[in-house]
Amino acid sequence: MNFDNLNIIEPILQSLREEGYTKPTPIQEKAIPIVLNKHDLLGCAQTGTGKTAAFSIPLLQLMHQQGRKKGITCLILTPTRELAIQINESIAAYGRHLAIRHTVIFGGVSQLPQTQALRNGIDILTATPGRLLDLMNQRIISLSDIEFFVLDEADRMLDMGFIHDVKKVVAKLPEKRQTLFFSATMPLEIAELAKKILNNPKYVEVTPVSSTAELVKQELYFVNKSDKRDFLSDLLLEQPITSAIVFTRTKHGADRVARHLQKNGIKADAIHGDKSQNQRQNALNSFKSGQSRVLVATDIAARGIDIDNLSHVINFDIPNVAETYVHRIGRTGRAGAAGIAISLCDFEEQAYLRDIEKLIGKKIEYKNPSTHLKKAEAPPEGAKKDFRHQKKNQAPKRK
Ligand code: AMP
Repeated sequence: MNFDNLNIIEPILQSLREEGYTKPTPIQEKAIPIVLNKHDLLGCAQTGTGKTAAFSIPLLQLMHQQGRKKGITCLILTPTRELAIQINESIAAYGRHLAIRHTVIFGGVSQLPQTQALRNGIDILTATPGRLLDLMNQRIISLSDIEFFVLDEADRMLDMGFIHDVKKVVAKLPEKRQTLFFSATMPLEIAELAKKILNNPKYVEVTPVSSTAELVKQELYFVNKSDKRDFLSDLLLEQPITSAIVFTRTKHGADRVARHLQKNGIKADAIHGDKSQNQRQNALNSFKSGQSRVLVATDIAARGIDIDNLSHVINFDIPNVAETYVHRIGRTGRAGAAGIAISLCDFEEQAYLRDIEKLIGKKIEYKNPSTHLKKAEAPPEGAKKDFRHQKKNQAPKRK
């Protein structure tokens, strides 16, 4: 299967060639015909599967074919600023040979440039919920002409507490529209929302969350909590890690780790919700351009960030929700590239590790630090054994 078989119009095929895409990903293969046939779609897919192109390409085509209408015709709602920027960039890339006007709005920055872009006339608007509602309340944006609505990362909207905002936005949409709904997981509240806002949808699922990207090699080190920062800097100094996202559970943790790495001569930036939009964008740009080697991030800040050629994902903290592990490691090994995920597990995190291994259906290979790392010390022998042979009633409780 290639893009030519999907009835895609030439100007879009041309941009895909320019982007270097040769074959559609599984979700694109499945979703593009459904959207072009004007069906609603429920897509169960995580980031990294090519889902942005899966909805952007057919929507651009439908809008091009029907010609320009008045008002905003297509709304794409996504939870984070970074995702919103990326979606808008993808639309710019795939639609570069079409006369479709698009822009992006998100909070945390002045609304002025955004409202100016809107006043010039827009066909596709990518937005985060808060800023969208704000501009709707100011009567700068009307949704009464929307014909296409995409809800992206619905489960993340729920996690981030945006679900009520999403419902408020949906209430303002015209009844007659085509809706595409994407979520990596389907908790009950999300399934209910999907049922409410979709009309007789076709269902598409790729890479269920429990089947970890198979190309990602997963490794595990048992490290004492207090040794983790030193262990990490040794790892980065001694192993051929070209670019890595390091995940921490907290914003403070991210800052502390980034400072520690910098002190050890490793170029690193932290990215999390307390950073300004400019700081985040600068950190991202310097990571993407290869100026910094490490991006230390919290899950929310990193969700959906699209970075090509990421060689490593490092779990500095083991996530307490198993699905988060799958999302994290899906950041590497994208679009066919091999990647490595390294997890640093301390004594208290073993219960989380067990949940993860249950979800992905396999044990993660664990390495003895002393044989793979010159400087770091192996954990005490007894502790290492305990990690794997602990009785159930000794396991730390989930918080
Ligand atoms: P997404 O899941 O939308 O975040 O996309 C993940 C990454 O895959 C992005 O870097 C896209 O540019 C890239 N991508 C999407 N579709 C294709 C394709 N058909 N061929 C190669 N790369 C792709």
